[in-house]
Amino acid sequence: MQESKLEFDPVALRKKYRIERDKRLRRDGNQQYLSVSGEFSNYVDDPHIEQEIKREPLTDTTQVIIIGGGFGGLIAAARLSQAGVGSIRVVEKGGDFGGTWYWNRYPGAACDTESYIYLPLLEELGYMPKAKYAHGPEILAHSQNIGRKFGLYENACFQTEVTELVWDELTCHWIVHTNRGDAMRARFIVMSNGPLNRPKLPGIDGIKDYQGHTFHTSRWDYEYTGGGPEGDLNRLTDKKVGVIGTGATGVQCIPHLGAAAKALYVFQRTPSSIDVRDNRPTDPQWAASLAPGWHKQRMDNFNTLTSGGIVEEDLVKDGWTEIIRNLISMANYRGKGLDRGEIARLMELADFQKMEQIRNRVDQWVEDPEVAEALKPYYRQFCKRPCFHDDYLQTYNRPNVQLIDTQGKGVEKITDSGVVANGQTYDVDCIIFATGFEVGTDYTRRAGYDLIGRQGLRLSEKWADGLQTLHGLHCRNFPNLFIMSTGQAGFTTNFPTAMDETAQHIGYIINQCVERGMTSIEPTQEAEDAWVREIISLARIGAAFQEDCTPGYYNNEGQPDPRSARNSSYGRGPNPFFRKMAAWRAAGDMQGLELR
Ligand code: NDP
Repeated sequence: MQESKLEFDPVALRKKYRIERDKRLRRDGNQQYLSVSGEFSNYVDDPHIEQEIKREPLTDTTQVIIIGGGFGGLIAAARLSQAGVGSIRVVEKGGDFGGTWYWNRYPGAACDTESYIYLPLLEELGYMPKAKYAHGPEILAHSQNIGRKFGLYENACFQTEVTELVWDELTCHWIVHTNRGDAMRARFIVMSNGPLNRPKLPGIDGIKDYQGHTFHTSRWDYEYTGGGPEGDLNRLTDKKVGVIGTGATGVQCIPHLGAAAKALYVFQRTPSSIDVRDNRPTDPQWAASLAPGWHKQRMDNFNTLTSGGIVEEDLVKDGWTEIIRNLISMANYRGKGLDRGEIARLMELADFQKMEQIRNRVDQWVEDPEVAEALKPYYRQFCKRPCFHDDYLQTYNRPNVQLIDTQGKGVEKITDSGVVANGQTYDVDCIIFATGFEVGTDYTRRAGYDLIGRQGLRLSEKWADGLQTLHGLHCRNFPNLFIMSTGQAGFTTNFPTAMDETAQHIGYIINQCVERGMTSIEPTQEAEDAWVREIISLARIGAAFQEDCTPGYYNNEGQPDPRSARNSSYGRGPNPFFRKMAAWRAAGDMQGLELR
């Protein structure tokens, strides 16, 4: 592929991307955000609880306690119960199952990943999603159905926050302390705290002074806005609303705010890439034609494509898999035996082409050329999370909606009555923070609790310089603990697949322990060290890409973290990782684990 034959100028685009990135780099990086604790803790109050649960503290013993009742915890509980593991309890901060879908009920909340691969346990539940992309309420209902199907409600502890986990060496049990005074015991712990569970606020000067109404999108206040997840925010018709943030959440709720508010000011620091959504109802004939095993096959197909692999047919055919399709058609890539440098060059060209298409879409939908220009993203597609929406861009044609583009600088200040950007004050009745979630902070801070393992060792101490695990799952000196996360494990854009693979792996290990009469397992020091070395050696590949990206949570806000390589996922991609785990199980010798 010759660069001179392209419809864009790669050199000019490279330069433009660099300029836009440099505008956004800030010295305070991740420190620019405020923790939602202390005087900001009201931002994480649960607006969905109808009645507070009253119960006595628990001191009983369960075979497995799973922390977190989102997809990860639910899938773990389902797979463990299928594997015949004994008593299981899910401990969950919220008032029900659902995790991210319990909390994020903002208008328009929906999943950008195809429902047929995103919703877990579809074949087990005999459920077919209503459309190619599922909305929040359907996903929340599916979560609750998993809870019912696997009998998880009976033993679950909702509205319960874990405050500390302590390993009891004498009995080889974990003691789970909570904010309700519980000291429950469990032989095994599965931690599934969620990757984006802790909302963050921007540390904008004056944020404490604001006297109007305010909330974070993950705790949407329908009392104030009226309406519901489908929109119709009828209490905003006489309100001036400011929304800060135009990431995946902002993109989904802004059309509803624009349709309802008397005036809407959207404060933008970096535009998102907005591709076609094109949602459509599920075709019943297609659904009926699916053979058993289709769900896993479809998930594997997607994982292969989104991690750069080749498959016979792209089953999902969506915006996530398109970039690799582009690459294949651009370069006749299949079977050509190109070297890594040439593949990287072609990938960049395919990316430029894709982003040109995204930028052209903005011109197609936004009437005011100045507004359209401000809405164009100048960075590589996967520097930020790609978004898919058919109404977002048109929202800026509404007379009551104003885009306040801050040219990468962000909001300057908040006063007692409004928001200051580009030197101008916008008085508003309400500020909605669509400012996302903590990512680069320490695991135990995001979890909200620390773990005390053998000889008083804290997990926060052990991980002070980065993760230290075997397979991202086990941690020496923290026996019988399973960590469901993508750090040092398999990462895929479609998280639930990785969670499912991990859950089945955990089921196997727990059953092996029980069958062999073991009371504790943990990785050997050698196995853990070797795994960390392998993770670091494979991580180098993505580092240069991230460094060139515009700042965001994908690249630690543009500040290379010395721990990034160590905290990264398995660099060969998700399917090779899952195959590696399957081979480990097939070997049957529990290699790298110390059993007592
Ligand atoms: P993000 O972190 O993606 O976005 C936060 C937004 O706040 C960004 O636009 C950011 O700008 C902006 N911001 C932060 N500080 C300031 C400031 N001082 N002034 C102005 N703007 C500011 O959070 P989201 O909640 O949007 O999304 C988080 C993740 O949740 C997504 O990446 C995705 O993984 C998931 N999600 C998934 C959905 C789905 O369809 N499956 C839907 C919604 C969310 P900047 O970009 O410049 O940093």
